[in-house]
Amino acid sequence: MSSTGTPTSTRRSPDELRALAAAGAAELDEASADEVIAWVARNFGAEAAAVACSMADAVLPHTVSRRLPGVDVLFLDTGYHFAQTHDTRGDVARLLPVRIVDVLPERTVTEQDAEHGSELFARDPNLCCALRKVDPLHRVLGGYEVWFTGVRRDEAPTRANTPLIAWDERNGLVKVNPLAAWSFEDILDYAGTHNVPVNPLMAQGYPSIGCAPCTKPVAEGDDPRSGRWASLAKTECGLHL
Ligand code: SF4
Repeated sequence: MSSTGTPTSTRRSPDELRALAAAGAAELDEASADEVIAWVARNFGAEAAAVACSMADAVLPHTVSRRLPGVDVLFLDTGYHFAQTHDTRGDVARLLPVRIVDVLPERTVTEQDAEHGSELFARDPNLCCALRKVDPLHRVLGGYEVWFTGVRRDEAPTRANTPLIAWDERNGLVKVNPLAAWSFEDILDYAGTHNVPVNPLMAQGYPSIGCAPCTKPVAEGDDPRSGRWASLAKTECGLHL
């Protein structure tokens, strides 16, 4: 199923959610991914939760939907994705018990080009990411109480201290990173064992997959995120700062 909408459930107050995040973080310091997801299922339920997914692999939607069937999976449809990424999105929609929510920027690529000039990603990638990823995600997250991300500590030094559960001040909801302690090999093992959809680019040197103009393959053993904005100082799109 595809949608650009948001759920309409009654939201608890930011103070209540912030307190819940603190309690969960204290309770689940060294918990497994499944224990973290079970905590969300007990305290929120599927209606209040969203799963962010880049469609590099579907391990996060798979693990979450086992406890929260019907959960929304947010796909940031920037207009710049590889064809393989759209194919993987289709596989996830077809094979997993989730609802895909296509999160769209306010402007199409053509409209953005008319306003800012073509190839904004090459001249001002921070603005391009803000317009096509960060702002649209912020808007859609306002309809939820908790969101899951696939951020892992082994992806980059900037992610080494990623907590399992935290309060997301910028977006005003609980942020859960159940795979924080997993390695890239753990992801591949889980995907193979459970027959989870994986973007075919992963086997072609792309351990981290974003928009096509800003993603290059990396050599074996290199920083998995070194192929993102490879010729620029930028290392993060801004979703997880
Ligand atoms: Fe734009 Fe590149 Fe960011 Fe995609 S990753 S939104 S193309 S700057």
